[in-house]
Amino acid sequence: MASTTELNTDEKALLEKVLAGEVAFRKIDQLTDAKTAVTIRRCAIEERVDVRFEHVQNYSIDADVVTKRNIENMIGAIQVPLGVAGPVKVNGEFASDEFYLPFATTEGALVASVNRGCSVITKAGGANVRIFQDEMTRAPVFKLENVARAREFVDWVRNPKIFKQMQEKAGETTHFGELLRVDPYVAGNTVYLRFAYDTKDAMGMNMVTIATEAVVDLIVDEFGANPISLSGNMCTDKKPAAINTIQGRGKTVVAEVTIPKDMVAARLKSTPEAMVDVNYRKNLLGSARAGALGFNAHAANVIAAMFLACGQDAAHVVEGSTAITTMELTKYGDLYCAVTLPALPVGTVGGGTGIGTQRDCLNLLGVAGAGDPPGANSKKLAEIVAVGVLAGELSLIGAQAAGHLARAHAELGRSKF
Ligand code: NAP
Repeated sequence: MASTTELNTDEKALLEKVLAGEVAFRKIDQLTDAKTAVTIRRCAIEERVDVRFEHVQNYSIDADVVTKRNIENMIGAIQVPLGVAGPVKVNGEFASDEFYLPFATTEGALVASVNRGCSVITKAGGANVRIFQDEMTRAPVFKLENVARAREFVDWVRNPKIFKQMQEKAGETTHFGELLRVDPYVAGNTVYLRFAYDTKDAMGMNMVTIATEAVVDLIVDEFGANPISLSGNMCTDKKPAAINTIQGRGKTVVAEVTIPKDMVAARLKSTPEAMVDVNYRKNLLGSARAGALGFNAHAANVIAAMFLACGQDAAHVVEGSTAITTMELTKYGDLYCAVTLPALPVGTVGGGTGIGTQRDCLNLLGVAGAGDPPGANSKKLAEIVAVGVLAGELSLIGAQAAGHLARAHAELGRSKF
């Protein structure tokens, strides 16, 4: 029997209508408040599937807020354990302080491992980090009559006067977004226009999609190209693609640190030579042999856990984790380590960043909401995430170089079973 005790008589009557198929799940929100709609849907699912939920009904996030912008057919919330690694010293342009990094994960040993990397980085004086590019992209696809017409279209798009018109059109749809450039790509009679925008503190996918739709309307009116799809997959959103690693998407960030050899021995139980060798044969050679886009040990672990904690779009772990990890010996025999993240899409406004628990984590990093100047908070978040990835790489490559990996997992992840 479903747990209907939270419902009053009218709400129970509404539940009966839902169960009878007279009211669709998506319509319940129009007939009652958001929190009650969540309860009614959950009770209906319990009844229909003959299941009893024990946990998903316990949440503190605001159902009214999230059902308006983050979720449809809400029945509750999932809880993911939240841990912290750090503090880690970040020497960035936007993030210049020591930070505790929030990780939402179920992978035992992950936080402990990154924590070790954070401690080494901090002890070594902190990680230097810089952003090299900050652009979110959307690439609509057009069909032209033939290749001659495709060439005319590309020439037209590249005309500075036309581009100015496009910028103005895009600017009509957003206060903060700014169209920076457009790169045309051709395949037969098909033309892709990869539009790149500065989206300030927003990750920007909704913003650039709306702006690009307005630009496509202009193109149809002024040139007459046939628009096939607002996204032609050369954006490339949420799919592994070389274009993102080469051209960048979201923030292109590089973080580096030099660890003295004594510290490598004392804290990572390894040597710079051994770590450089593991990095070369695993992250570089092994990834090349495998045809990988990511030349790293586990950037996705840090990015996924920090994205979940901080209200980022989890699907962007795909492009975010195509990082390259490099390790070299310095002339003094110390360890130089860097991570290059070509395509890290992050934001501190919009998307899931306003949800209570996720906002708590953004507040922990001092990046919740709009930055001053606009864009400063999302850049600060990108710098911090990149240093988290660096900490994860140092610790895992150190562990593999020292042969500690299996033991750490056995002790921290599996000993309870
Ligand atoms: P959004 O919540 O749609 O838009 C961000 C909003 O914040 C804009 O309305 C912007 O105003 C406003 N804003 C206020 N202060 C700002 C500041 N300092 N910097 C930038 N903007 C500021 O968020 P979004 O980042 O564009 O899109 C993120 C969402 O898109 C996520 O939920 C993600 O899952 C989803 N998504 C959508 C698509 C798609 O194709 N539509 C694809 C992937 C993901 P103005 O617009 O007036 O500037």
